[in-house]
Amino acid sequence: MIKKGKKLHEGKAKILYAGQEKGTAIQHFKDNATAYNNQKKSIIEGKGILNNRISEHILFNLNQIGIETHLIKRINMREQLVKLVEIIPIEFIVRNISTGSLTKRLGIEDGTVLDKPLIEFCYKNDNLGDPLVAREHIYAFGWANDVELDWITKQCLRINDYMQGMFKGIGIKLVDFKIEFGRFNENGKKKILLADEISPDTCRLWDATSDKKLDKDRFRKDLGNLFEAYQEVARRLNILHEETNIKPVQFGKLRSIKNRK
Ligand code: 5GP
Repeated sequence: MIKKGKKLHEGKAKILYAGQEKGTAIQHFKDNATAYNNQKKSIIEGKGILNNRISEHILFNLNQIGIETHLIKRINMREQLVKLVEIIPIEFIVRNISTGSLTKRLGIEDGTVLDKPLIEFCYKNDNLGDPLVAREHIYAFGWANDVELDWITKQCLRINDYMQGMFKGIGIKLVDFKIEFGRFNENGKKKILLADEISPDTCRLWDATSDKKLDKDRFRKDLGNLFEAYQEVARRLNILHEETNIKPVQFGKLRSIKNRK
């Protein structure tokens, strides 16, 4: 059994503990759901288990195609062993279809399919509400250099390409997603790794035929049945495992979101 060390950081949906071995950490997925910079909060039982499993599946597959990630292995229902990186304080947003803050900010019609993926940079700072920044800000304040940013941008496009195909195969449109990267020193070699979860908490996923939202927008927009939507994503990815004790249910039925404000 891998023992957890001291708590390194507690975020809105995850806790990071030191790992037993140097350079490793244990990432714990909580059931907390937050939106609008923590103004809206709830607990959705089982969400952390599903996100742990979905994220493990996606990161494992990205590793298989040569995209290096922080994931070492999933260790239990709620936890993963990961490489401990120095996080680059930028949220990389990749968009295929216009929605969310893009539509609000620029008045682009919701649902507009973009000719090619759009990558946006946001400065990771909750107090400021993760503001959109330009490349020039990233260089000016030393958050990353041009070599790093070029590399990350290319990785974002590869990740998007892979994920779009993966989701298309299971009848889901990958609308947009957010990822973060970190610096890692592996035997003296500096690397940049994808160091974030990829789950319905961090992506927008629409059913390909009905455009039904299968992601955190169900919580943001009070659409209900968030747990069932995440389960549906896991079911289609064929990763609902008995160990999780989460049985497939028909979308839209059973369980309601538990609000424990
Ligand atoms: P938007 O900028 O439209 O609100 O979000 C774009 C995409 O990035 C969405 O898939 C959204 O879930 C994700 N995203 C943006 N910021 C955050 C964040 O701070 N946390 C999480 N979990 N996802 C985010």
